[in-house]
Amino acid sequence: MAGKVIRTIGVLTSGGDAPGMNAAIRAVVRTGLGKGLKVRGIRKGYQGLLNEEIIDLSARDVSDTIQRGGTILQTARCEEMRTEDGQQKAAAICKKYGIDGLVVIGGDGSFAGAQRLANLGVNTVGIPGTIDLDIDCTEYTIGFDTAVNTAMEAIDKVRDTSTSHERCSIIEVMGRDAGYLALWCGIANGAERILLPEEHDYDEKIIIEDIQENRRRGKKNYIIINAEGIGDSINMAKRIEEATGMETRATIIGHMQRGGSPTCKDRVYASIMGAMAVDLLLEGKSNRVVGYRHGQYVDFDIDEALGMKKVIPPYQYDIAKLLAL
Ligand code: ATP
Repeated sequence: MAGKVIRTIGVLTSGGDAPGMNAAIRAVVRTGLGKGLKVRGIRKGYQGLLNEEIIDLSARDVSDTIQRGGTILQTARCEEMRTEDGQQKAAAICKKYGIDGLVVIGGDGSFAGAQRLANLGVNTVGIPGTIDLDIDCTEYTIGFDTAVNTAMEAIDKVRDTSTSHERCSIIEVMGRDAGYLALWCGIANGAERILLPEEHDYDEKIIIEDIQENRRRGKKNYIIINAEGIGDSINMAKRIEEATGMETRATIIGHMQRGGSPTCKDRVYASIMGAMAVDLLLEGKSNRVVGYRHGQYVDFDIDEALGMKKVIPPYQYDIAKLLAL
């Protein structure tokens, strides 16, 4: 549908929320209005689109939001959007509300929805918004920086009390099936072990031996960062305590990693990506996703972006292990 004249755009947030989504919404709204478009906000992701929870947005509606966590439009997961009927209905609702272009802020799943809508004649552009950093076409996803800093600060605190009590601490961080949050925290917090879903190279027996060896050498704590994709932290703590005799506690940081005021990096990248998404729509582009690669803001075809698979850089993982010596 390149070449279609865009007069009204919509914006929604979908999938898990991420700090910085509001900065992206604000940028979409203000860029759109600044360039003469009408902007509509869709509440609660694709579910809200199907329920026609659609509101007009003014520049003032996004005042005082850049520093807020969460998403002012709220978000949801929506099974119906995965069906052909749901997708047809969503495209028809966009047409009913005059939405010629739609900005979708979310992860891979949300982009798949945008791809279906693009095939049905609604111009779409995706913005990577996920704390998981698991989208291969971009080195940056909105929310990761805030989430990793939140987790890092929490882990520092756990480490303090672990040292006082000479404990082993297993700290579980989010990331679903991706280990980036765990890897970054592992490096930033100087963890003794990092367990990643992408690297099935850990053996609990070896960890137990390592804890015992560390104790013999007089080390006062032992920090294991466990990725959500591995999970089982509470049982793992029981097994390790039983085998080592060292008091072992599991801490699951959980949803606090999704909240909080976004960092400067999240606000700035989200603002630029939001503006860029609107510009792409104005150029008549569709089925694109915005990204950041090799120091540049770029855009990819969603089909191409969804075909890419992100891997944990082995060199970074090796360094993390070496530094834990
Ligand atoms: P996060 O990384 O935070 O989990 P995400 O966008 O990957 O974000 P998903 O739950 O995978 O989160 O997807 C969000 C929504 O996108 C789904 O609830 C569904 O409505 C829609 N969606 C996901 N996959 C598809 C698909 N294959 N076709 C159409 N819509 C989809």
